[in-house]
Amino acid sequence: MSALMQTYARLPVTFSHGEGVYLYDSEGRRYLDGISGIAVNGLGHAHPAVTRAIREQADKLVHTSNLYRIESQEQLAAALADVSGMESCFFGNSGAEANEAAIKLARLHGHRRGVKKPAIIVLDGAFHGRTLATLSATGNRKIQAGFEPLVAGFIRAPRDDAEALRQIAANNPDVVAVLLEPIQGEGGVRPLDGDYLGEVRQICDDHGWLLMLDEVQTGNGRTGTYFACEGLGLVPDVITTAKGLANGVPIGACLARGEAAHTLGAGQHGSTYGGNPLVCAAALAVISTITSEGLCDNATAMGNIITETLMADAAAPKIREIRGRGLMIGIELQRDCGELVTRALDAGLLINVTAGNTVRLLPPLVINEAEARELAEGVARLIRDFD
Ligand SMILES: *Cc1c(COP(=O)(O)O)cnc(C)c1O
Repeated sequence: MSALMQTYARLPVTFSHGEGVYLYDSEGRRYLDGISGIAVNGLGHAHPAVTRAIREQADKLVHTSNLYRIESQEQLAAALADVSGMESCFFGNSGAEANEAAIKLARLHGHRRGVKKPAIIVLDGAFHGRTLATLSATGNRKIQAGFEPLVAGFIRAPRDDAEALRQIAANNPDVVAVLLEPIQGEGGVRPLDGDYLGEVRQICDDHGWLLMLDEVQTGNGRTGTYFACEGLGLVPDVITTAKGLANGVPIGACLARGEAAHTLGAGQHGSTYGGNPLVCAAALAVISTITSEGLCDNATAMGNIITETLMADAAAPKIREIRGRGLMIGIELQRDCGELVTRALDAGLLINVTAGNTVRLLPPLVINEAEARELAEGVARLIRDFD
């Protein structure tokens, strides 16, 4: 414990095992998981299809490196192309790495067009990761403070303001891409306006910019479609994803279509582990389970039950707004509510609070109706008793 760098404010609990939407601590206490390891365990804990895939692959081969062809990596790229409408894929090991690949791709796209200092537009309140480039793209000073000099080449714009983008376009010939989360996760579960996103697509087309969606959190069924852009009728040039893709085995992916699909060439990007046989086996099991078991539709249905249960409860007057889509739910209260996390833990519920006053729920996509009600009623009780 003391040998760890103190980078996390951890809760005083250790889990020993899990099953479905439940986790068990080292004393045998059961918790309903309303956070899924931050949108990672979409299939819940110890899902048999994922366990079997990992076990069978570990028996054969864990890693070979990208010096060689990896059949399951090619299959995974094809499966992701199938669920996203994208054409090509690069694999890293985390969300930040997926975004790093997108940022490099956008810069290369710019240089090919003769832009010497390519810039990427990013939004207020955005979260794109903790590496130097991705924390520079992030719109949160707390995450950046102390790590200056930041990486150059990002232009910050307000959310939901298409006019601001047109003004940047008029004044700045160096812009090559827009990077945004369709629903800002760490920023407080804030969905961007659908009309705004349509305008962003148009502005990108008008100027030859790439529209790059950070679906690290919103992807893999979380919002009721495999990727959130599908539910929004939005066709981006680049999608990055990670969290829910392999149910906890580390992976990140940068997907692209059109010109962007062929921008990065041999030797221009790489990762030693990226897309190794073990993680690809896990991710293939995840994608086939999400699609064959209708888990996107389940996310929509269970998300509705959670929201309706909260709104019908006596806690409702204390709720300022419920935001999100599917099983990505933000419940904004009238005031800061960070202490609800430990109160929930005491009550056997795992939740998260983001942006100070917003309870964030990201339960496993496999949650059933009874469990969804149990989660919503538990959260409602915490909010009712929060004076
Ligand atoms: C979590 C997250 C990231 C960073 O992912 P890591 O795997 O922690 O590097 C990037 N973008 C979004 C939208 C995220 O939610």
